[in-house]
Amino acid sequence: MAAVAARRLRGGEGVATRGRVLLTLDPGALSHLAQGRHVVLVTGTNGKTTTAHLLAAALGTLGPVAHNATGANMADGAVAALATRRHAPRAVLEVDELHLTRIADAVSPAVVVLLNLTRDQLDRGSEVAAVATSIREGLRRHPDTLVVANRDDPVVVATVEGLPRVTWVAASAGWSGDASLCLRCGRQLATTPEWSCPCGLSRPPADWELHGESVCGAGSTTPLRLRLPGRFNLGNALAAMAAAHALGVPPGDASEAMSGLESVAHRYATVRHGPHQLHLLLAKNPAGWAETLPLLKDYPALLLVINAREADGRDTSWLWDVPFEGLASRPTVVSGDRAPDIGLRLSYAAVEHQTVHDPLVGLELLPPGEVVVVANYTAFADLWRRLAVMSRR
Ligand SMILES: [Zn+2]
Repeated sequence: MAAVAARRLRGGEGVATRGRVLLTLDPGALSHLAQGRHVVLVTGTNGKTTTAHLLAAALGTLGPVAHNATGANMADGAVAALATRRHAPRAVLEVDELHLTRIADAVSPAVVVLLNLTRDQLDRGSEVAAVATSIREGLRRHPDTLVVANRDDPVVVATVEGLPRVTWVAASAGWSGDASLCLRCGRQLATTPEWSCPCGLSRPPADWELHGESVCGAGSTTPLRLRLPGRFNLGNALAAMAAAHALGVPPGDASEAMSGLESVAHRYATVRHGPHQLHLLLAKNPAGWAETLPLLKDYPALLLVINAREADGRDTSWLWDVPFEGLASRPTVVSGDRAPDIGLRLSYAAVEHQTVHDPLVGLELLPPGEVVVVANYTAFADLWRRLAVMSRR
């Protein structure tokens, strides 16, 4: 009833509200609902929503899966997902990195997937090193949990090294801005031919890796046929496949199931709007943008939308860490609550653009045809809501 009321009053899915009511009625609900199930937690700064969707598809080949598919990734979202599919023997929970420890203590996960740790919303969350320390201490309390960890991110390796059960995946790391110093000893990491530190911390050999678009792991080579774009999504699929394998899904079955995914919570979706064909991408921190920028090169026009509300983090200084200098010149509009911030950043990067507060008004300045849209969290959600409302008219 709370979820229905929240949907009617505020829009959205009402998932978090449902979870909050459940947790108020029964503070132990998370652990009660997780009992007797195989739970996988997916965490990291970027890619957790996509990886959780890929993993849920793979585990779906074994039977029903509980999954917080809308991205409500704190305890309330986890409780709501487990309560919605009470009899699913497996659960995939995307978990905010700051909430991993609490949720892991409640659900005793079979597997934790740790994708990457980079700066994100520094005015709301914590420094990367503090997040890493909290995750490390949390995982130490669960020696039976298998940790699927990205060996290409030095922060991830420093976080999980020494834990009793680790499977290393070579999921790549496109942005190294938070991994120049060793988390263990503070010295500068060497980066060639691969990252390492004089203290002995180094890139572990991979149990699962990519050869082109095929996955090598568990003694076999399996082609991936992802419909989601980008090198980083191959890395996400690799991590999902390793986690699914740990719960008994053969790589071929996982690959087949994951190839059915076209968009994830509206990300990567293509929408027709007037004379424009919009390709929607979400990026919300320097590492996410660094991975997204290479995808933009094939599109003739660009719309970038930036907000700085509570859920985005109020501080937009992270825009200065994004390598916009490589953006090719083409019709470009910047929009959103903080259009002037992204506009100023592009000016310093010598990228010509027009600044228009409302993204749908800004769109009218772009030539008809294909437009790639990159928006951060609330900017993306707002734009999607407005496009969905207009398409229903
Ligand atoms: Zn070191």
